[in-house]
Amino acid sequence: EPQENQLHFLIIPLMSPGHYIPTIDMAKLLAQHGVRVTIVTTPVNSIRFGSILDQAIQSGLPIHFLEFPLQTEKFGLPEGCESLDEVPNMGLAKDLFLAHSSLQQEVEQYLENLNPKPNCILSGTFLLWSAETAKKFQIPRIIFDGMNCFTQVCNHVLYHTKVYESVGESESFVLPGLPDRIELKRSQLSFEFNPGSNDVTDFYEKLRVSESEAYGVVINSFQELEQGYADEYQKIKKDKVWCVGPLSLCYKDVSEKALRGNKLSINKTECLKWLDSQDNGSVIYACLGSISRVEPDQVVELALALESSKRPFIWVVRAGPKTPKIEKWIDEEGFEERTKDRALLIRGWAPQLLVLSHPAIGGFLTHCGWNSTLEGVCAGVPMVTWPQFQEQFYNEKLVVQVLRIGVSVGAQNVVHWGEEEKSGVGVKREELRKAIEMVMEEGKEGEERRKRAKELGNLAHKAIEEGGSSHQNMTRLIQDIRNQASTKTIS
Ligand code: UDP
Repeated sequence: EPQENQLHFLIIPLMSPGHYIPTIDMAKLLAQHGVRVTIVTTPVNSIRFGSILDQAIQSGLPIHFLEFPLQTEKFGLPEGCESLDEVPNMGLAKDLFLAHSSLQQEVEQYLENLNPKPNCILSGTFLLWSAETAKKFQIPRIIFDGMNCFTQVCNHVLYHTKVYESVGESESFVLPGLPDRIELKRSQLSFEFNPGSNDVTDFYEKLRVSESEAYGVVINSFQELEQGYADEYQKIKKDKVWCVGPLSLCYKDVSEKALRGNKLSINKTECLKWLDSQDNGSVIYACLGSISRVEPDQVVELALALESSKRPFIWVVRAGPKTPKIEKWIDEEGFEERTKDRALLIRGWAPQLLVLSHPAIGGFLTHCGWNSTLEGVCAGVPMVTWPQFQEQFYNEKLVVQVLRIGVSVGAQNVVHWGEEEKSGVGVKREELRKAIEMVMEEGKEGEERRKRAKELGNLAHKAIEEGGSSHQNMTRLIQDIRNQASTKTIS
């Protein structure tokens, strides 16, 4: 039963692991601050969220689910495909989002019958329907962004200056007016400015309107990591930005960490045992996120680069439509047998937080999804950056150029987001091997990179402690909504 005057947030996560995982973390944190949270979900996702939050709910935190069936077939999606990591090809991404927008009606019906109404709707950036719902019921909407201030500011500059329009496809250009000299190519811009054959103008115009109408934005980052950009974004959003991260740090012990995300494809104890048997700082952890669909040929280059590094490594092979091809190669090549003395293959879902926070890890080869990047920062390890699409190229710039804790593999080719993937090899094994070597080597440059990474890791932990910037921002956010709620009651 809700307590009297208890704040109530309705939380609507975007259904892709990179979005729903931190959103669920946010829900848990809000509940720990005494806020009642209701999470909108669908049957398959409900099971996923339920297992992540099980301990929190058992301990009596005010977390509730609102589960609605998703009519997948109606939108041409396979049964049980309720999240972006499950779509058989990226061409179906937009259908998935359409299917989810049909939840609007159900959510609105729920709100009709609910009194008092929630004090806030916290929903994913792209969920335009949730903005309509918030407007209809006059509930302040806060966007759960999923990206960082750096990306937001880059996109802001691109949108307002249109600098990219006058340059050729393969030419680099500088983004004007930023605290650092950031150079990008057109092909490295996020979907809005690099849509391929998709017509996205209308969608992004609507998105911009919904963003300008939102009450504020929650960012999974911490101010000290990207101070100049956080300040700039704060100005753009008229002080309604709350950097409350790194959210992944709300997982304290090993068993809690193993719960984050999907069901693990490896036994936690086995994974820890392997890590414990390795020297400190010696292992490369390679994982390209939850939705990237790297071509099998390219995956082979990665595998061979890891092998030729002659260092111990963990290689995560994502389960997906292309996995059989990759498995065939592993098998024919005898790769596993050949590398078994120093490699651990994880097929499917890896306990990333648990792995990254183990002292054996010395470097993280990442696709630069924002969550992975930030988790790497928290772990205090240098990174090998291999962006694939969307704002991952911006994150690479942040890591390599601004924070100077990473080495780029020099990825150039991009798949336009939402389109079926192109085949072929973009990055050669030798380039991958070189970048791995630079990150892991013991020379002066490598040492300094490691030292900076460690320092940032410490800052990340400080940010979420009592009195830290993110902790304060969380309190400020809740107080802000509380003030909104009381003005409403008075008027
Ligand atoms: N992740 C994980 N195990 C895996 C793959 C991914 O735990 O095998 C988690 C990872 O820790 C991160 C999220 O899934 O929190 C992926 O989000 P990110 O923004 O890095 O990339 P995306 O998957 O959205 O491209």
